[in-house]
Order: sequence, then structure tokens, then C-alpha cells
Amino acid sequence: MSLVVQKFGGSSVADAESIKRVARRIVDTKKAGNDVVVVVSAMGDTTDDLLDLANQVAPIPPARELDMLLTAGERISMALLAMAIASYGHEARSFTGSQAGMITDEVHGNARIVDVTPRRVEEALAAGAIAIVAGFQGFNRRTGDITTLGRGGSDTTAVALAAAMNADVCEIYTDVDGVFTSDPRVVPAAHKIDHITYEEMLELAAAGAKVLYIRAVEFARRNQVRLHVRSSFNHKEGTIVSDLTPEASMEKPVITGVATDKSEAKITVVGVPDVPGKAADLFTRVAAEGVSIDMIVQNVSAAATGLTDISFTLPKDRGARVLAALDASKEDLGFQALQYDDQIAKLALVGAGMRTHPGVSARFFTALAEAGINIEMITTSEIRISVVTRVDTLDDAVRAVHTAFGLDADGEAVVYGGTGR
Ligand code: ADP
Ligand code: ASP
Ligand code: MG
Repeated sequence: MSLVVQKFGGSSVADAESIKRVARRIVDTKKAGNDVVVVVSAMGDTTDDLLDLANQVAPIPPARELDMLLTAGERISMALLAMAIASYGHEARSFTGSQAGMITDEVHGNARIVDVTPRRVEEALAAGAIAIVAGFQGFNRRTGDITTLGRGGSDTTAVALAAAMNADVCEIYTDVDGVFTSDPRVVPAAHKIDHITYEEMLELAAAGAKVLYIRAVEFARRNQVRLHVRSSFNHKEGTIVSDLTPEASMEKPVITGVATDKSEAKITVVGVPDVPGKAADLFTRVAAEGVSIDMIVQNVSAAATGLTDISFTLPKDRGARVLAALDASKEDLGFQALQYDDQIAKLALVGAGMRTHPGVSARFFTALAEAGINIEMITTSEIRISVVTRVDTLDDAVRAVHTAFGLDADGEAVVYGGTGR
């Protein structure tokens, strides 16, 4: 008997019909002789709708209460799914994150899993039932409070359970056929990737390809959990995420894909004294707000004034906090002004072949230039080149780069559900 962990994203359980469809699929897996643990996200755009509601009653909702609110979304879908399975004559037991033993640190809104103790899930399986676990949520032992794992965190719940329970497979069901060379909503010519390494998937996820959440990929890599990302709307084979296998390495293209991210903003600190220690001081204050930043650019300082400008990108939803913190330390830091720009977007080209193939940057920047795209910031890793551009030019930019690297497929990629929100 195999143990299968199946995770269904919000677009796969968006309404009653979808929940019944997913329930039938789960029952089929059970009837084939497997033990089944299901992780489910909130229905459709529920999490976004709850966030909107919270913002209507409070400009900066208390983090503890926000987690309490958001976890309600997964509670609804898990119970409905268990009911639908029961209507097909199989027992299903739903569990909240804390009931399922998802123990986290105490960081509200972005908690890390520190331990998984799925005793009740195991008991349910032993009793012949299907276990349904609410994704995206956990519990902190010290505070006794409910936490959430960050947007997209149901993926992490699934991988953590699969690792803790030593599952034979961890299937991530979503609204596209797998991991594509780019977001199929933006690039219809994108094609499905059959096999991708953890390393490449981490870079794509970090650069905004939300089909898998970055922490889930990290967890999978650390614990060697093989992932199968596939559509819940058909039975096609999806994308395998694992270490590089000899077969896969034979046919590896230089470039894996292009990812985009519209969720970031840019802060420019104007007129910072160009003396040792200023950047350290600045970024210590940013870190104190619990914000991770991605790209940083420092201008050459003007000889006459000895002042320089430092720009960096950060998640838009942390913008107000960081601006306030920097403004409060204006005197200590000695800068002249702050600029905030939320009309930027990031585009990243990812591929392990960059290490060994010269000319990738040249082709990348030529493609952007020919499409008339202006570049504002650049960063690289060993297997990624990222740029910041204007958000309104992003879609043209990603299509141009996709074409320039020969990634375009003949047919059009299908998106089966979801709103892309
Ligand atoms: P779920 O609700 O199942 O978790 P998400 O909306 O989080 O689904 O992720 C699936 C979406 O990710 C797709 O509908 C697609 O628009 C987007 N996406 C972005 N980049 C990629 C990519 N490289 N491959 C596949 N999908 C991608
Ligand atoms: N419902 C949560 C979100 O929308 C978690 C998830 O879907 O993975 O972010
Ligand atoms: Mg998701």
C-alpha cells in the first residue's frame, strides 16, 4: 500500500461542483488501494477576499487576528471536501493545522514549520479514513496561537506532511498542466516542463512563478520529497520536481524559463552620505521590520557632495512599514529624501545552463532592447539574471525574452481555472 499526499489549490476547489470533482478524484486514489492524505487551500479567492475585508475594518490589522481570520478559509474547504467524500460512501476526517500537528515558530503571517506531529492524521488513516488537512496554517506552542505560513503556503503544508509521513508521492494539483517555461496566463506560447530540478524551481519560485511556493520547494529539496505538479482538471502527467536524473540531464535546455513578479516596489534613499557603515545601518533598520529585500543598487556618489542614492526592492505590502521606519531614522541615517515607486516589476531568466554557456546575458539584453524595454536594476545569481522594468511593459518584455530563447511552443497553453489574482 502506498501513501499519497495530494494538495489541491484554491482554483481546484473554487465552488461546490469543483469540490465534488476533487472528492471523486480523491476517492479514486483511495479505491486504487492507497492511503490518502489531502491538503486543501481556501476556495477560489477566499483568502484575498478576507484580506480585503480586514483592510476595510483596519488600516494595519493586528497580525494575530489576521491569521485567525485567514485560517477560516481553509477550514471551510476542508469540511466541505470531507462532506463531499462522505457522500460518495467513504469516510473522511478533516483537521485544522494545529490538529494535524503543524508546529511553527511564532511569526504571524509568515511562520516557519519547526515540527510536524501528525498523530491524528495517522490515526485517521489507520481507521481506514481519508485525512484532509487545512493548508497554510499552523500552531505555535509557546504562544498557543494560530499562525499562517505565508501566501501560497498550502504547498508547504503538503510537502511537510509528505516528508514527516514518508509519503511515496506528493502531488500538487493546480489549474495548469504543470510548471511551464513562463506563466501561461501571460505567455500563451509557454510550454510545460516535464522535469525540473529543485535548484531551478527554487529560482523560478523566488522570481515570482507562484505555481509552487518557494518554501515548499526548499523543504522538498532538504527532505528529498519528489513533487509532481499537475492539473486537477485532467489526468495528464505534469512536472516532476526532483534532483537531476541522468535521463533528464541528457535533454536539458540551457534556459529553463522566465518568471515575473508584480508584487514588489522600489524604495530609493536619496542623498545618503557615502561613508562606511551607512548601508549597514540602513539595511539593519529594514531587517528590523522583518522584511527581506531582493535587489539593491547604489549609485556612484557625486564628488562635490559626497552623497549617493541607494535603491532596493521589497514586497509592496511591506512598503508603508519600511518607509515609516526609515523616515523615523532620517536624522541618524542622514539622508535627504525617500522615494517610493510601486509601478515596477521584475523579470528573471533562469537556467542551470547559464553556468556553462556564454552569451546568455547578451541575448537577454538584446531581446529586451529590441522590444524597447528600459531596464532600471539588474542582479544575477549563478543560474539567474533578473531585471526591474516598468510594470506596464512587463508582459511585452517576458514574451520577447521567451521568444528570443526559443522557448515558444506551437500550441497555446491552457489555463483551466482561477482568476490569476
Ligand atoms: P493554486 O491555487 O493551485 O495554488 P496558484 O494560483 O498558486 O494555484 O498557482 C498556479 C498559477 O501559477 C497558474 O494559474 C499560473 O498563472 C501561475 N504561474 C506563474 N508562473 C508559472 C509557471 N512558470 N508555470 C505554471 N504556472 C505559473
Ligand atoms: N489560501 C492561501 C493563499 O491564498 C494559501 C494557499 O492557497 O496556498 O495564499
Ligand atoms: Mg498556490
